[in-house]
Formats: sequence, structure tokens, C-alpha cells
Amino acid sequence: MGAMNLALFRRILLPLFLGSTAFGGFPAGAPDDPGCTAEDKVYMARAYELAQFATTHGGGPFGALLVKDGKVLAEFSNCVHSTGDITKHAETGLISAFSPKIDRATFAKSTLYTSTEPCAMCCGAICFSGIGRVVYGVSEAPFIQVMGLPADPDPLTSHEILRRIAPGMKVLGPLMEAEGLKVHEGYWPVHPEDVGKS
Ligand SMILES: [Zn+2]
Repeated sequence: MGAMNLALFRRILLPLFLGSTAFGGFPAGAPDDPGCTAEDKVYMARAYELAQFATTHGGGPFGALLVKDGKVLAEFSNCVHSTGDITKHAETGLISAFSPKIDRATFAKSTLYTSTEPCAMCCGAICFSGIGRVVYGVSEAPFIQVMGLPADPDPLTSHEILRRIAPGMKVLGPLMEAEGLKVHEGYWPVHPEDVGKS
């Protein structure tokens, strides 16, 4: 397949194929977690902006921010490709960059907003940071679906991981999932080589 044909395949034919056959249709997005507030929606919208930014700045479509008392303390966009560092997920990257500068008491009173449900690695970093509250946008199941991977018959969710390793932490989500899925929709069909790598 020539370069032009490959580009056409990735941008037009592959998305059509993934949208109609392999995915069984694009997920619509689940209702918001009723525990989330109007303020949570404002910050989740920012997390989605950071996720979108990552897609053109060396990362997969993931973003996170840390907020305390209406003030944004830290932001981070996934940058695993530009850095070559697989720990540069939005959440672990944020904690790694800012935990030397933010004391544990502040982390404990903060909310971490993340565009997609945290993976197991990020749950570990979130646990050790002592962050008091986590709000995620897109749940694991539709995220797997939009990447074109088969459904996990035995999913290990962030709710379950964090309940076990950080019992006092509040974990909420999904929030504005349909909006978050649009960021993924624009990324994975044209970056199939990144599936499972960011
Ligand atoms: Zn992660």
C-alpha cells in the first residue's frame, strides 16, 4: 500500500470500518455520576481540553488537573510519545511533576480531575499522593471500546483498585462521558499503532 493509500485507509476507510463493524457502533456515553457537582463539570471540561492538547503535543488523548478550593494547582497532558517515558500518563505525570512542590496535606484536600478513568499504574501514584478525591470523565469500558479492543470480561476498575488501596478516597465518574468520548473518537481511528501504548 503506497503512502497516499495508507493515509486514505487510516483517515477514511479505517474509521468507517471501526465505527460500523468492529465497534458495534460508537458508545453514546453514560449518565453523569450523581455525586458530581456543577463545579466538577467546569474542571472536567478543562481536563478534556488538556486531553485534546496532548494529541498534538506528543501524547495520547489524556489530560488531568489538580484543584483545591476553586484554584487549579497543577495541570498535565499525557506525553508518553514526546518523552519516551511510559509513566507520563496524565495522572502519574502530574503527580510526579508536582508532588515535590505540593505538600501531602494540600493533596489530601484536593480533587484530581482526569479525562479517562485512571489505569492501575496511575491508581498507585494517586494512592501514594494521598489525593482526597478523584473525578474521571470516560469510564474504562467505553474507552476500551473506542480503541477497538474486545470488551474485558473481568474488568478491574479504578473504583475497585482505589477502594482496596486507598479506602478513604472518594472516586466519582463518569462525568460528561459523551464529550470525553469525542476526544477519543478523533484520535484512535487514525492512531491504531498507539492502542495500548499511551
Ligand atoms: Zn495511567
